[in-house]
Amino acid sequence: MKGEKVVLLEDGTLYSKRKGITPFRVPPLKEYAKIVGEEPIKELEEVSEGLNGMRMLELNSTPYGGGVAEMLHSSVPFLNSIGIEDEWKVIKGSKEFFEVTKTLHHLLQGKKGDLTTEAEKIYFSTIKENVASNIIDYEPDVVFVHDPQPLALARELKREGDKWKWIWRCHIDIDERALRRKTRLWNFISYGTGAFDAVIFTAAHFVISQWPLPKFIIPPLIDPLSEKNRELSEEEIKLELEGEDINTEKPIISQISRFDHWKDPEGVVSIYKRVREKEECQLILAGGFAPDDPEGEKAYKELKARTKDDRNIHIFCECSDSCINAIQRASSVIIQNSRKEGFGLTVTEAMWKGKTVVARPVGGITLQIRDGNTGFLVNGEEEAAKRIQYLLRNPKRRDIVGKRAREYVREHFLLPVRIVDYLLCADFINKTKEIPEKSIVSFHPWFKK
Ligand code: UDP
Repeated sequence: MKGEKVVLLEDGTLYSKRKGITPFRVPPLKEYAKIVGEEPIKELEEVSEGLNGMRMLELNSTPYGGGVAEMLHSSVPFLNSIGIEDEWKVIKGSKEFFEVTKTLHHLLQGKKGDLTTEAEKIYFSTIKENVASNIIDYEPDVVFVHDPQPLALARELKREGDKWKWIWRCHIDIDERALRRKTRLWNFISYGTGAFDAVIFTAAHFVISQWPLPKFIIPPLIDPLSEKNRELSEEEIKLELEGEDINTEKPIISQISRFDHWKDPEGVVSIYKRVREKEECQLILAGGFAPDDPEGEKAYKELKARTKDDRNIHIFCECSDSCINAIQRASSVIIQNSRKEGFGLTVTEAMWKGKTVVARPVGGITLQIRDGNTGFLVNGEEEAAKRIQYLLRNPKRRDIVGKRAREYVREHFLLPVRIVDYLLCADFINKTKEIPEKSIVSFHPWFKK
């Protein structure tokens, strides 16, 4: 998602019908029905009618870049188009604040170390600034807070007797046992979540059982009709790629991801070099920057410098959505070499395009790739390279797996289907008085890791 498309109001508002800020359009429901069938659309309409004008607010830390912003760009206008008032606001933070929250993210995903007093001070002072600037300027029914950056807002803003409910949506590849070993971090995050009425995890294996609040399991979604995912003709694909100086005759392997240590782009380059020993191909690494990710630019520059002598390695930055779409569609094999992954919308996007994805068996990727069936899970560079070599030689196998991948996404991870879970969760929390704090509601099958 390119940054220039997004305009934020001074108060952080990105989308609000109330304020007349509705910058994104969505196709009519009948277009979605052509893709998912009439049944899910009927269910969606029934559920939304039963919500009696429920008003929702989404709070996150970036207007673009990364999976959360990607999802909100689709889901917020979509919900408004079916009569649900869903607003989107982005919190403000300095470079220092986002350095702290990036560290927080690293620690939550398992990096060694713990939070420091100084980091906590910086974090809370920014949260207080957001509170002072009246980040919530009306009374919604349900506030969704995405990821740890705005987490403590609930603690700061929730008042005894308030009618509105707070739900924290954790998109991170989080591990309870590892988290408990970091005392400060554990206390910080448990203190933050303790103010919420419920928490949403992406997968069963992320659930933090110790937290005394209702838990929901809802995987993310992609919009099949967005610029990123809509069908493209062969000519459109060619045009996009030739515009980037890519020879479309040579097989492409690619990874689309922020330039981030957890996505391991260096590892992708090593895998590609091994593949190249036996198969002719080129590599595309496309990534963007997010305002809440201060490390991206440096990682990009380093990677670019390290690969500058290989003309078959293309490192792209800040591509348009249609260009990302074209790269995914033109790729013979797509890699997702993440070491940790909350879900991996890039995997979903590739699978929806009928592509075979080769990925590490981590985090939310295991929800999507059933090994050998809807894609391939690999451990280590050698296995990854061998699998990719095999796939480059076997277009038929790629086709079979790709078709299954697409159907799997159609069934489980498309906007009109998955968004119902989100609404049911909000409605349940909004209307139910006493929910047992140990309850777990899952909208998705519980897979073994
Ligand atoms: N993305 C993009 N341009 C890029 C790189 C990534 O638009 O150059 C998008 C990608 O298509 C996906 C999202 O950013 O929709 C990344 O989401 P994901 O869940 O894979 O990873 P995250 O960045 O949230 O960890």
